[in-house]
Amino acid sequence: MKLIEKIKRNFPQAMHPTYSLFGRNSTEKIRAIEMGNDPMNDEKEKREGGCACGAMRYRLETAPMFVHCCHCRDCQRQTGSAFVLNALIETDRMALLAGNPEPISVPTDSGRPHRIFRCPDCQTALWSEYGGRAALRFVRVGTLDDPTALQPDVHIFTRSKLPWVTLPAGAPAFEVYYDSRQLWPAASLERRRAILGG
Ligand SMILES: [Zn+2]
Ligand SMILES: [Zn+2]
Repeated sequence: MKLIEKIKRNFPQAMHPTYSLFGRNSTEKIRAIEMGNDPMNDEKEKREGGCACGAMRYRLETAPMFVHCCHCRDCQRQTGSAFVLNALIETDRMALLAGNPEPISVPTDSGRPHRIFRCPDCQTALWSEYGGRAALRFVRVGTLDDPTALQPDVHIFTRSKLPWVTLPAGAPAFEVYYDSRQLWPAASLERRRAILGG
């Protein structure tokens, strides 16, 4: 549902021309927000992030294609936690605002190459590159200034999910992996084709 329809349904008084939240021409303002043109509500700012020491700063210039919550053993080891949250986005849709990340190769269960990009000063892990595909980054959502900005679209490798982690009802979840053609929005599939082909 479009934002304007949601507001009309849940918050009808907001559409009144004298209502203070949107004021006059509220319909036009909400349309502008939907088009991404509202400077007062800059989604890009919500997608800035960085490392613990502040030397590394980045911004996701658009929404990611998809967000993985991965419960595999590699991710558990590498994060020292229950899972990792990865936002999949084209490398050219990320702006490096400060610092120069250091890629570190790590062994994987699958044998496929995996490099973790870390702040050279504080060693915070910021994003990963899998399979040598430099055009695609897996950005760690926990490094966003506002990690609530992105939620997982799918849970993968739930076969090694820690037993006390309870997934939200209805969340797509797979024992191992999944078929992105069945789960990704068409626009995201198109974006991925544009960088990886196939
Ligand atoms: Zn740092
Ligand atoms: Zn994983």
